[in-house]
Amino acid sequence: MTEKISYTELYLKLFHYYGPQGWWPAASDFQMLISAILVQRTNWKNVELALANLGENITAGKIMEMEEEKLAEKIRPSGFYRMKAKKIKAWLQWFQKYDFQIGEVQKVDRAILRKELLAVHGIGEETADAMMLYAFNKPGFIADNYAVRLFQRIGYHLPKTYHAFKTEVEKLFPHDLEMHQEFHALIVEHGKQYCKKTPLCENCLLLSYCRMGRERR
Ligand code: SF4
Repeated sequence: MTEKISYTELYLKLFHYYGPQGWWPAASDFQMLISAILVQRTNWKNVELALANLGENITAGKIMEMEEEKLAEKIRPSGFYRMKAKKIKAWLQWFQKYDFQIGEVQKVDRAILRKELLAVHGIGEETADAMMLYAFNKPGFIADNYAVRLFQRIGYHLPKTYHAFKTEVEKLFPHDLEMHQEFHALIVEHGKQYCKKTPLCENCLLLSYCRMGRERR
């Protein structure tokens, strides 16, 4: 039985193979924050269309002034647009507490900030963690579907809940902002290129470390 690869080794292998990803793919930190909501239950292409409708210079103040209906119309390409418009408005109400200053939010303690974000309508764990990692400079693991799929296939026995999985990885992975930012982006990239729903194991860099890859040989 081959020994299971550690989280850090997995990160290093992906990093050396794909190189730095430089995520999140948004023009500004504010766009990043909005797109973390827009990307719920859709793909990035649709988010880009919604962001283009909002315009490059979109600000929190401009969206606050916008009627919810008008906002919904602009973000229509991202799907579930009425629901998302409501979520964005609710999130901005929260952000207003910090005068829409990302730097002010960055000063908040990590656990307190996460709790605050999770209390906002429409902000689930994955969205909160993405905002924290890519805009508010709080290192943490995003236990999304790409991560679950990859880690299960490699042979990890994953805890059942998002939070337990996230906590377990964080215990064993360096508490480093850039490494966490890259780790999530690399897992997504690998999920798109090789570890797809139907995986392309033959040429995968993780073949010899992966239970599923070995079984499919
Ligand atoms: S070997 Fe196959 S299942 Fe394993 S990580 Fe690579 S693509 Fe995914």
